[in-house]
Amino acid sequence: MKMVLRMVQSEEKMIGYCGYNCYLCAARSDDLKTRKKLVNAWRKYLGHESYTPENVACKGCKSKGDTIADKQCKVRPCAQEKGLESCSQCNEFPCQKIKKLMGTTTMILAFLSPKLKNITEEEFNLCIQQWNSTPNLVKNLVKEGKLPSFILKRI
Ligand code: SF4
Ligand code: SF4
Repeated sequence: MKMVLRMVQSEEKMIGYCGYNCYLCAARSDDLKTRKKLVNAWRKYLGHESYTPENVACKGCKSKGDTIADKQCKVRPCAQEKGLESCSQCNEFPCQKIKKLMGTTTMILAFLSPKLKNITEEEFNLCIQQWNSTPNLVKNLVKEGKLPSFILKRI
C-alpha cells in the first residue's frame, strides 16, 4: 500500500481510546491525494459525507491537540478527562458512547458485502482495515485481567 504516513510511533501506542487503529489510517497521511482517496472511499462504501481531504487530516487519537478527523467524537475527550489509555480501563465500559464505535473489519465486510463486492485492495487498505476496535479492546481487557487469557487465541 502506498501511503505517506508519519509512522513515528509504534502501532500499539497509536490505538485510539475506542480501539480504532490510527496507525493504519490514511487520515494521518501528509499527502492530500491519499486523503482524497480515503475520503472518496469512505463516502462510497461507508456513506460518510462530511469529510473532505482537508478536514480529515488527523494526527491520531493519542496525539496532543485537536487535529483529529472525528471532531464530533465524545469518547476521546471523555477518556482523556478520566486519564485513561483506553476505554477498556474504564469502570463504565462499555458505555453508550463507546458502543457506537465498537466495530470490526469483518463486521463491516459482512454487513456491507453487497456494496463491497468490487472494492479494490487499495480502497480496503485506505478505508476498512483500520476499523478493528473491538478486537483491540478485547486484547486490552485480557491484559487488564478483565477477561481470561485463552481468549487471545480465539480472536
Ligand atoms: S473515534 Fe474518537 S476515540 Fe476513536 S480513534 Fe477516533 S477520536 Fe479516538
Ligand atoms: S465513559 Fe465510556 S467513553 Fe468515557 S472513558 Fe468510559 S468507556 Fe470510554
